[in-house]
Formats: sequence, C-alpha cells, structure tokens
Amino acid sequence: MSRDGLTTPRHCSAHRWQSLRAAVRRDIAILTYNRRVIALETLQETLAALGAPRYRATQVYQALTRELVTSFAAITTLPAELRRDLAAQLDPVLLDAVEVRVSPRGDTRKTLFRARDGEPVEAVLMVYRGRATVCVSTQVGCAVRCAFCASGAAGLRRDLSAEEMVDQVLHFARLLRDDDRRVTNVVFMGMGEPFLNYDETLRACRLLNDPAGIGLAARAISVSTAGVVPAIARYAAEPLQLNLAVSLHAATDELRDRLVPLNRQYPLTKLMAACAAYVAKTRRKLFFEWVVLPGVNDGDDQVAALGKLLRKPLYHLNLIAYNETGGEFASPTAGELAAFRAKIERTRIACTVRRSPGVEIDAACGQLALRRVSPGGAPAASAAGADQ
Ligand code: SAH
Repeated sequence: MSRDGLTTPRHCSAHRWQSLRAAVRRDIAILTYNRRVIALETLQETLAALGAPRYRATQVYQALTRELVTSFAAITTLPAELRRDLAAQLDPVLLDAVEVRVSPRGDTRKTLFRARDGEPVEAVLMVYRGRATVCVSTQVGCAVRCAFCASGAAGLRRDLSAEEMVDQVLHFARLLRDDDRRVTNVVFMGMGEPFLNYDETLRACRLLNDPAGIGLAARAISVSTAGVVPAIARYAAEPLQLNLAVSLHAATDELRDRLVPLNRQYPLTKLMAACAAYVAKTRRKLFFEWVVLPGVNDGDDQVAALGKLLRKPLYHLNLIAYNETGGEFASPTAGELAAFRAKIERTRIACTVRRSPGVEIDAACGQLALRRVSPGGAPAASAAGADQ
C-alpha cells in the first residue's frame, strides 16, 4: 500500500501501478496553470517519455532560452512529429502580454501579463545608461501589506512559479533582441515578497543564471526582501553570488511596525543580526532600501537611529522617493529628498538616491497593483476593484 492509502489493484504490477500514477500526476500538472517547460529536467522527462534521444532536451532548452522561440513549431531542427508531440504536452510560454504602457521618454515599459489561470502578473523593463533591467514579480498580490505599497492592498492571491518569473524576463529579452540588445540585469522587486516564495524565486535565479541556458551573471541578479529573517540566512548559504536588498524604511521598531508589518514578526534586532551574518558569510555588499516619506521617516530621530544601524562596512543605503499610491503619504519634493540625503551623509553611511522610473505609467516601485484580467485580455478593474 502506498502512503496515500491506495492499494495496488489486482492484475497490475506494483511497478506498472507506480508509473501509471506518476503519469496521471504529470498530466494533472500539465493541465494546471504551470506547465513546467523552461526547466531542462522537465524537457528531459517529457522527451524521454516520448522516446526521443537525450540530446533533444538540450536542443529544445537552448531554443527556448537562447534563440527565444515561442513555439515548438519554430524549432525546425526537430522532427515534425516531435514538434507536434511536444506542443500537445507542453506550453513554451506561460504568460500572455495583454497590456503595455510605455513612459513618455520610452525608457520604461510596464507589461501586464495574464497567466494560464487568468491571474494578472506585471513586470517592468527599464533601459538606462546601457543597462536593460527587468523588474520581476514573484507573487500575484502580496501578503506583507506595507503601509505605502500598492502591491499588498488586495492581499496575496498566489505564488508564481519559477517558470512564470523567467517568462517575464524572456518576454523582454525577445523585445530587446529586435533592437540588438539584451537583458543585462534582473531585479526581483516587482509585486510580491520573494522570500515568502523562496524556493521558486531561487529556482528562477538558477534558471536565469544557467550558463547552458539564459546565462545571466549571478551578480546581475538582485532579490529584495521586506525582511523575512530565516530566509536571509538561507540566501547567504546559497552557492550563487546573487545580490540582496533589504527594505528597511524605518530605523526604530515603533515606526517599522507601522510601515512594514512584518517587523512585528522579525523586529530590527533580529533583522540586523541576520544582515550582519549575511555580510560576514558572503563578504558581499548589502543594499538597504528606504522609501522617503516626508514627515514620517525623514526626521532626526530616524537619521540618528539609522546611523547606528548602518554605519558598517559593505552596508549601502538606497533612498527611493515615495511614489504616490493613493494613500495617506506624500511624495518628497526634490528639496526634501536632498535635505534628507544630506542628513544621512553626515552620518557617514554610504548612500545613493535610487532612480525609480516609470511614475508616469504607474510602473515605479510600489505602484504595481493587482488588476483583474478579463478572459478577453483587457484588464477589467483597477486595484480597488479587484474583488476576487
Ligand atoms: N517585497 C519586496 C520586493 C518589493 S521591492 C520588498 O519589500 O523588498 C520594491 C521596493 O519598493 C521595496 O523596497 C518597497 O518597499 C519599495 N516601495 C514600495 N512601495 C513604494 C512606493 N509607493 N514608492 C516607492 N517605493 C516603494
């Protein structure tokens, strides 16, 4: 008897029963939204079941990740029958682009995708000074509900799979290729909390980094967390040289409890201890993010507390001007931002002001929000109207 209590039927060998059950499980997985197609192992499994030689999996994998094909039919080096069989079983693209908004200067593009189960997914491409950075979403919605961020307003709907994360990048890679360009950086800073979907986020990092596939340098990949402490230790132990950013936003527990509710679970002493351990272990630079909220987190008390927390080697503070999301906060004026920065610099913390492009098209930090996508393709409602 197997673990789920099902006994092997009479006239069926245990081995045959096992493989039947495995096949049913695989079919169910294929029928659900996540047809795990980009991963080499999936291709190997599927092609082996189709009786194709092993090298075919590598061939298909490279066509998807390097030649950036969007259909098996386009892989003309495969026998026609195999192309048809693959197409019947796997889906090479998991997200359909349904709406695009481009900033007036043309350097930022926000794309709304629809996943196979109809869920909306947003990603942003930013082209700036020779870099083409894709900002990837890791979840549909977000459970963290930071006070100033639109992504958490409607709560969490579901995790994205690694393939769905990589698909966001491949979409922009195809666009860039038409201009003879490529994706140079990927930041996991879109909708969702990557460390509450840790395994899939890391699998996406490995897929992006795989030298046999997409081949993006680990140092060109950054993951941002609101401060899931146990995951920071896990991340520090990963063999890849990925970057980490921690969304700090407040330097006292009292204020951080209010701005980043996750702080009640992982208060600053625990968070900063995890950060110190991360730097000690990796010897890599650690980025902290601070959304500047005038009158809320730009006072002298915060600056003084911040000085104590961050005046350490390899710590770096990125200031982000708050982008309006329709809540209680106001964006800083250029003067307010400069004044805060000057105060920070006096504490001798390493600090830069991060560009947050895309405000005109609601594509800037914190502005990615849940929007329902109707089956026809057009987004049906704004964040406030996303009611299911
Ligand atoms: N959940 C992760 C990933 C989001 S990254 C995290 O919290 O780190 C996006 C960054 O933009 C985070 O630092 C987030 O706090 C910040 N952000 C959220 N809302 C914002 C807003 N309205 N204006 C500017 N930055 C914002």
